[in-house]
Amino acid sequence: MGRYPFAYDRGQPYMKQVSDWIADIFYDILPEAGFEIRDEQIYMAFQLERAYADKMTIFAEAGVGTGKTLVYLLYAICYARYRNKPAIIACADESLIEQLVKPGGDIDKIARHLNMEIDARLAKSPDQYACLMKLDEARFGHDDMELYRDIYAELPDFVHSREALQTFYAYGDRKNYPHLNDEQWQRMNWDAYQDCFVCDKRHRCGQTLSREAYRRSADLIICSHDFYMEHVWTYDSRKREGQLPLLPEHCTVVFDEGHLMESAAQKALTYKLKHIVFEELIVRLLKGEVRETLAVCIDRAIDQSERMFAVLEGCCQPIPGSERKQIVMNDALLQEIHLLCDILSEIEEELVFEGEMFTLNDYQLKIVEEHLEMMQKALALFRNKHSFICWATESITGLSLVIMPRTVKEVLKEHVFSAKMPIVFSSATLSVEGSFDYVANSLGLEEYLSFSVESPYDYAERMEVIVPAWEQGGSFQEKMNAAVQLLQKTEGRALILFPTHQELHAFKGQISNEAACANLRFIYEGDQEITHAIAAFQEDEHSVLAAVSLWEGLDIPGPSLSNVIVWSLPFPPHDPVFNAKREASNAPYEEVDIPYMLLRLRQGMGRLIRTREDSGIIAIFAGEIHANAELRGHIERILPSGVEMKSEARVDS
Ligand code: SF4
Repeated sequence: MGRYPFAYDRGQPYMKQVSDWIADIFYDILPEAGFEIRDEQIYMAFQLERAYADKMTIFAEAGVGTGKTLVYLLYAICYARYRNKPAIIACADESLIEQLVKPGGDIDKIARHLNMEIDARLAKSPDQYACLMKLDEARFGHDDMELYRDIYAELPDFVHSREALQTFYAYGDRKNYPHLNDEQWQRMNWDAYQDCFVCDKRHRCGQTLSREAYRRSADLIICSHDFYMEHVWTYDSRKREGQLPLLPEHCTVVFDEGHLMESAAQKALTYKLKHIVFEELIVRLLKGEVRETLAVCIDRAIDQSERMFAVLEGCCQPIPGSERKQIVMNDALLQEIHLLCDILSEIEEELVFEGEMFTLNDYQLKIVEEHLEMMQKALALFRNKHSFICWATESITGLSLVIMPRTVKEVLKEHVFSAKMPIVFSSATLSVEGSFDYVANSLGLEEYLSFSVESPYDYAERMEVIVPAWEQGGSFQEKMNAAVQLLQKTEGRALILFPTHQELHAFKGQISNEAACANLRFIYEGDQEITHAIAAFQEDEHSVLAAVSLWEGLDIPGPSLSNVIVWSLPFPPHDPVFNAKREASNAPYEEVDIPYMLLRLRQGMGRLIRTREDSGIIAIFAGEIHANAELRGHIERILPSGVEMKSEARVDS
């Protein structure tokens, strides 16, 4: 097969020919190979033709089982070959990008049944790779030193060799270390505070080797939303510094689970400050021959940064259901920020002198100057935070101060939507009660195409939705009792979705005391690498998966997932990000809380029925639905047609 998978007639519009070819695939070629004809899939294919022909953005809402992935992959591949640039497929998270390329996955299906060779490569986020610098620290650190020494000993030989690289390959991928829990992995993976630009190991580092590999893809580059937004946000600065952008030039982007794009954009567009990072960076200057006045300034700056973060810690308040901490600004904190900014300005002036004397390594100097500039900018925004949202997060390496633009719309408009290219937002849940306004507004999109197609599955027959009515208002113990009964009824085979980690941990602490569940295996998100946790759940049919982040994307067909328990309604937390949205709205409950919750709930419920043969129970632990007619109405309207809510669990006691 040549460049195009069909006989291309240059006298006819290309996208029309693509659309005809795709229609042949769904009407003839795939049915001959045993696939069913799905009207919903064919409808979607015709809708995408216009978006590609006119280079427009389209919201493609297609229910479970429509086969939407095959449709957008076929368009993306054909368009990539036409434009001679790869297409980007951006998935919601790292675990989903693996699902696209696994044997039996959609790319494999296209390759086999259409006899095509498809060049599809993964662009994983750098934090999915081991960092040789951090691994060095970990193996000489305090905890699990043996573990990290074993990992070091198993690295490819070329990592330790000084010879020119003859053969090399990407290594150090998170999925190669399934035995590490998240905390152990975070002691050895790349993080935002590693400085790859000046790292002398970069030419032998798995993370940088993987980057070189995916850049050469001819058809598809598959990455996460976060990674795509990181590419957008760093595009100009990387070019200025003579670095290649994270992703190569591309012709189209598909955002799978597109309703989650806004949060990825927010995450990428933040400034993050951390004492330990500042200290590590600034002391590098002391390795050179510097004047005493600069050395003294550096010592003062380190002390002052430490002091400012200590005061900041005292101003932080935890927020239930969120890892973000609220910062309550006061005069003492403002004073510490001023003092730090003053010392940073002194250092900047000192560096001008040092630069003229050529005593410091130019590259190091540039990196420190850029970091100081970023700190000054971020601290100035923090002091006058009306157009920015600020919070703090805690990790094993200390407190981080995070500063984010109040709205990401302008950035998306300038850097994503202004590029004249087809952009597809695909998801089973993009609209809220029939309208695309919530998602479009959050992205700042005014002009777009859109369509909705329902799932072809018979939900009325195969899905039972239970909302237990509680006697004590839905106490923790009532929920535990109901969960135990449901787990007994389906003999495990359940996914329990928690809106917060706190709720998951409370459940984890209690379930081991429940004798009725003693024979069930519980798999908890965070105890092991997520794709391995998912695989273990799928393979062990009677196991139970308890998770916080698997409301979307999880695809487990068959009896392993016959019961979805929604521990409580997934309303957004009252953290600075959602509070800012509420403040910007005239009707925050209706325009922010309800649409967010309904989208997330629809996604969570969507985990149950993945094939025509699947069936099972959705249990929503939210007694407030019975007390609040309006809330009940909202939830009834998002149920698949023919499905009714029952308050009585059909659970055998
Ligand atoms: S290049 Fe980056 S990820 Fe690799 S070892 Fe160096 S700092 Fe770590």
